Amino acid sequence: MNRQEMEAFFVSLGEKPFRASQILKWLHQQHVADFAQMTNVSKPMQQRLAELACIEAPEVAVDQLSIDGTRKWALRLHDGNVIETVFIPEDDRGTLCISSQVGCALDCSFCSTARQGFSRNLTVDEILAQIWLAGKLLKEEGKSGRNITNLVLMGMGEPMLNYENVVRAIDIFLDDFAYGLSKRRVTVSTAGVIPAMDRLADRHDVQLAISLHAVNDELRNELVPLNKKYPLKDLLAACHRFMEKQPARARITIEYVMLDGVNDSLKDAQALIKLLSGLSVMVNLIPFNPFPGSGYKTSSAEAVKRFQTKLHDAGITTVIRKKRGDDIDAACGQLVGKVADRSRRTEKFITP
Ligand code: SAH
Repeated sequence: MNRQEMEAFFVSLGEKPFRASQILKWLHQQHVADFAQMTNVSKPMQQRLAELACIEAPEVAVDQLSIDGTRKWALRLHDGNVIETVFIPEDDRGTLCISSQVGCALDCSFCSTARQGFSRNLTVDEILAQIWLAGKLLKEEGKSGRNITNLVLMGMGEPMLNYENVVRAIDIFLDDFAYGLSKRRVTVSTAGVIPAMDRLADRHDVQLAISLHAVNDELRNELVPLNKKYPLKDLLAACHRFMEKQPARARITIEYVMLDGVNDSLKDAQALIKLLSGLSVMVNLIPFNPFPGSGYKTSSAEAVKRFQTKLHDAGITTVIRKKRGDDIDAACGQLVGKVADRSRRTEKFITP
């Protein structure tokens, strides 16, 4: 429940609405999972809540720490499905990368999650459980409760195909009585589900990242099949519409995976500059993370650098995404590193 929903819930119990902010704080800031420990709530109310509600987290099936400090958790949901959450610490911030669906339906040709197929949407509480558990586990290790400063919906799944649950979870990410994250530090990444992008612009002032990856429809149809439904021209128009509703200095992030000999030539860079002209953007070049049977190769460091310089020279801020958590299969697109094929869903996270 977001704050409004929880206020309505307390009013329906004959209580004052401010109870909602008390409970939100206990739950999301103190990570308390037992109503009896909520000391500013009366005993009868604690009992009533325990009868009506429960606070349960998914089981941590795998907890892996990379040599670079990146931490990956595989979380087992009540129905046995497993999702992944990744924490990426940096000097000045901590980014949590969360999943929005079990598997993914988009079938992007270079993404390992695609090989798993789509199982189902995550519920609001399953989306929230990821930040709740990560915050709790980090805190238990003596790290500050404030170590998650940034949140990216770049894990498994397409967040804009689980629109309702994602925007309701974002309500709670942003609420000062809950996680209190800055809207500039919450990023929704989408392959370009245009109707949902339009709705998001009216609902939340968060950061948008577009997984572009190609500069013409022919190639994009192949890499991101969703492009057949929402081609580049329409996607770019939607980006412009989104930005019209944003504050003046806002920028959209363009994600571009660098695939050797596929989309990494200077001609591609030139076409990208043209495509993005007039749009306030930051380009994120993602070196492709290979996985068995992907059929693609990572662009050479020189090709990535050349591509970046070309965009820079055209005045486009361009950063090369650092590889993090490579040794634990936590890097972009590797979140189901252990999956063998689509039929073996339940076995894929059983690690040696
Ligand atoms: N469905 C959403 C969010 C999940 S993917 C989207 O498409 O944006 C997060 C990012 O990782 C996307 O930009 C995706 O294209 C990229 N990605 C997927 N597989 C990858 C791989 N093997 N190497 C590098 N980036 C990858």
